[in-house]
Amino acid sequence: MKVFKFGGASIKDYKSIIRLSRIIRKENHDRMIIIVSAMGKTTNSIEKLVLSYLNSSKDFKDKLELIKNFHLDIIKNLFKKNNSSITNIVQAVFDEIDKFLKTNKETDYNLIYDQIVSYGEILSSIIISKYLNFIGLKSKWVDARSCIVTDEYYRDANVDLERTSKSLKKNIRGKGLFVSQGFIGSNKKSYTTTLGREGSDYSAAIFAHALDAESVTIWKDVRGVLNADPRYFNKTKLLNKISYEEAIELAFYGASVIHPKTLQPLKKKSIPLFVKSFLSPSREGTLISKKDYKVRNIPSHIVKWNRVLLKISSKDFSFIVEKKISLIFSMLSKYKMKVELIQNSAISFSVVLNNKYQRLDELLKELRENFKVSVDKEVSLFTIRHFNRNSLKHIKKLNHNILLEQRTYETLQLVLSRNFKRENLFEFFEQ
Ligand code: ASP
Ligand code: MG
Repeated sequence: MKVFKFGGASIKDYKSIIRLSRIIRKENHDRMIIIVSAMGKTTNSIEKLVLSYLNSSKDFKDKLELIKNFHLDIIKNLFKKNNSSITNIVQAVFDEIDKFLKTNKETDYNLIYDQIVSYGEILSSIIISKYLNFIGLKSKWVDARSCIVTDEYYRDANVDLERTSKSLKKNIRGKGLFVSQGFIGSNKKSYTTTLGREGSDYSAAIFAHALDAESVTIWKDVRGVLNADPRYFNKTKLLNKISYEEAIELAFYGASVIHPKTLQPLKKKSIPLFVKSFLSPSREGTLISKKDYKVRNIPSHIVKWNRVLLKISSKDFSFIVEKKISLIFSMLSKYKMKVELIQNSAISFSVVLNNKYQRLDELLKELRENFKVSVDKEVSLFTIRHFNRNSLKHIKKLNHNILLEQRTYETLQLVLSRNFKRENLFEFFEQ
């Protein structure tokens, strides 16, 4: 079995879906699973729709209509005059969304979000599976909601790998070309869950793990894994071959090319991961595997924007050690904060957080009952993996923006103040 994953950018319009079909046709596709994201920026559009709906703003209907027309338009271009049956199917999906919105009694934002946002992947996978059939590549549509078993942590659900593996083995058997969704699953209450933004890579890895796939290929709009984001830097280098460990580190620090959870299920079964460009499929791209390739001489640059830096210190000048650290972490976990960097000294403890669930105020209130806390919002976390002398020279120029620095043998991380903007990054790279 081979697993191919196509992200939103690679299926953003009808032409790119035709391109996808050409890639599939060229490959040996009688044992293949295609995992797709939502088309283009659909997930963002549905997120906005959910917000309108919850704010009882009337324009949510217009937003839904726009999303529907976007998909119907693609269908018309793909199926030309033969679009009536697929149009009906897609119309029925929109009726389902409409019905949910009209009858929903739930109030939890995260739960509602998952029920609706997941339709982006449902729609793209139905359209792509039907299109492949239409052009003679017989495919079978698989509903990930009945295979990927998760907990109830909506918007960032945790996958039960064992139960998921069993159910995937049951649902995907023998030869064939299968099409399923990334990003989504369901829990024992039969609610749909999502695995976190950009989580389709992770889904592809889960399918591969469960079915002992020979490889996973992630098709991207970039050449492969690069040492910097090509939107900010035009002299990026391709990392041709890297180890799982290196890829995990890069993804963890925020290299947006792969979702950070993707590597673990693959590493467990030594399944190689290819990252390739769907624009030039014959080019090599990046291979991630268990071999320890040395990439130490290429510094990689990664930025995470819009983070929160907390400096926590004791009110009575006492040490911040085990008990207090454990108390701090229990609060971080209670308010669903994602911790991205920690640094401690005798009487203070700093953390960089991703405030994904918007619960910072609640956290601060509780922390301040026990500690003194200072907050910097909208900071960015700049990581240079395998930094060298040149990197050190460059970062001197960022001095006024640096709120915190952490250095290990391989990695340099800076927390930069909100004054540090994307333009400054260009300057940094241009030196
Ligand atoms: N469609 C989802 C997102 O845009 C998942 C993914 O693309 O991987 O975040
Ligand atoms: Mg995406």
